[in-house]
Amino acid sequence: MAAFDVLQYMQTLESMLRITEQTWLLDEDFLKVLDKLSKVLGITKTEIDIKNKDDEESEILTLYDDKSEAEGLAGYEFVYGKRPVRVLIYTKCGNSEYPAELSAGLNTVYEILRRQTIRELNRRDEEARGKTDFVTGVSTKKLFTEYVDQLYKKDKIFEYGACGFSLKGMAELNRQVGNDNGNKLMASFVSGLQTLLGDDGLVARTGGINFSMIFKKNRFDEIVVYLSGKVVYLNDDSEGKLMSACVGFYPISDTCTSAAELNEIITSALHNALKNPLQPFIIYDEKLQQADNDEKYIAGIFQDALDREEFMVYYQPKAELNKYCLNGAEALCRWFHDDKMVLPYRFIPVLENNGEIIKLDYYMIEHVCRDLRRWLDEGRPVVTVSVNLSRCHLGDPGLLGHIIEIVDRYKVPHSLIEIELTETTTEVGFNELKALVGGLRDHGFSTSVDDFGVGFSSMSLLHEIPWHVIKIDRSFIPVGDGSAEDEKKNVMLRSIIEMVNSLGLKSIAEGVETIDQVILLKETGCYYVQGYYFDKPMPVGDFETRLDQLK
Ligand code: C2E
Ligand code: MG
Ligand code: MG
Repeated sequence: MAAFDVLQYMQTLESMLRITEQTWLLDEDFLKVLDKLSKVLGITKTEIDIKNKDDEESEILTLYDDKSEAEGLAGYEFVYGKRPVRVLIYTKCGNSEYPAELSAGLNTVYEILRRQTIRELNRRDEEARGKTDFVTGVSTKKLFTEYVDQLYKKDKIFEYGACGFSLKGMAELNRQVGNDNGNKLMASFVSGLQTLLGDDGLVARTGGINFSMIFKKNRFDEIVVYLSGKVVYLNDDSEGKLMSACVGFYPISDTCTSAAELNEIITSALHNALKNPLQPFIIYDEKLQQADNDEKYIAGIFQDALDREEFMVYYQPKAELNKYCLNGAEALCRWFHDDKMVLPYRFIPVLENNGEIIKLDYYMIEHVCRDLRRWLDEGRPVVTVSVNLSRCHLGDPGLLGHIIEIVDRYKVPHSLIEIELTETTTEVGFNELKALVGGLRDHGFSTSVDDFGVGFSSMSLLHEIPWHVIKIDRSFIPVGDGSAEDEKKNVMLRSIIEMVNSLGLKSIAEGVETIDQVILLKETGCYYVQGYYFDKPMPVGDFETRLDQLK
């Protein structure tokens, strides 16, 4: 029943009460309205046989001595919740006056009906609110879930595709037009999409600038065009704004069996799409889903694996080209899980994503210090060992203190530890990097820029931050295939080395695999290398044999 029915009945009832206020004459029509309203509100109204004197329950009858006096009266019991309210109502015109004692009962019923009407209207309002997003006018996630549930129940889900999308450039748009107008533009964009879909699907706001959508498969092309860019207007005179979205499409497969699962997959599809903002659309296929599942699996077992010390330090020697001897090593992490060795590319990005990498990095520093301490105690020759530190920790104010605490706990000279950090993209990151590198230097640690050249290197990175070592990424090392690309690398490599040398920094080339590369590097003025030509990363036992050769 529509919401206005409740209100209409209540209003009719009130006007009837007002008209009859003086006489308290309530006729059959009043009773009909009362009936309907009670029904809608879930209040039971039962007629009491007030003429049956033997009915002990009917207290109202105590007012009357004989049947005739009860003529023209009807007795009702209203039950809402646990509380029954009894009331006498005149149903016929008669001479008798309405008994004053009973008006209180009628008022109580009226009050209950009035309060229940307000409650019912509020409830319906809230329900509507729960299904419509007030900012944009499209559906909420709740309605979306119900809608998808229905498609599953009717076995129609496979006629549909789904996607999660996020509006692009909203921060900039809000800056230009203000938040309120930004919301209006967002509303116009997404409600336009719902209009385009009509009954062929549903758009729902899932939070902020993120949305979910389900649509008939044959509407796919139109949706792609719309989400790629649509001009929307604040009003008739305003300048149009081009809006678009980053989208993760999911072709619904039979592995997804419920609305709840679909919601999760849509979230992951959008998450994947947002990883690469330059590519506006992705299809979240089985391969990507598998990668996500792996990610969840790794994140789920990481802490246990760390507690069980499944992570091992592998050491990759660094060579000095003048003397052709071991000059240092990089500590690289290897995970031994289920009798298999897992390489960093499988788990480091996952841990960087969920912030757990800090635990692994401290673990690596600790294990390297433990090895160094043992080597020193055993009287072995030692070299400086570099440890990778993820950029994620840069904002952590306790970082430097924590590193010092670990190294000092093992009484390892700071000069034996080098910290490798990658370049940074943001200004905040730059300042934090500068502070950390400066702090490490002040405490006697060595520092290096890892993978130099592939990130957002700038002159200020080299000039303003007090590094010791620049590790030139292997993508700059010519492979010697005579290609134009290789020649370009050659030119760049020479200029990088020249610049690094003239700044008084130490350069080391990563990923050196051939003797030709070694010769080229030496010629160019880079005297330190790390790469498979000399050694692959190796377990601690093998590395100890290398150290012993220094004796
Ligand atoms: P990276 O710090 O640049 O480490 C060098 C990577 O290049 C290592 O890969 C190493 O095995 C590989 N490599 C060395 N020489 C050669 C070569 O001649 N040819 C080729 N093709 N590759 C070579 P790995 O061990 O798989 O590590 C990959 C990345 O994972 C590392 O790059 C580093 O960024 C990260 N990583 C490894 N361990 C840790 C760790 O404990 N903490 C953090 N935050 N990152 C780590
Ligand atoms: Mg490194
Ligand atoms: Mg590197």
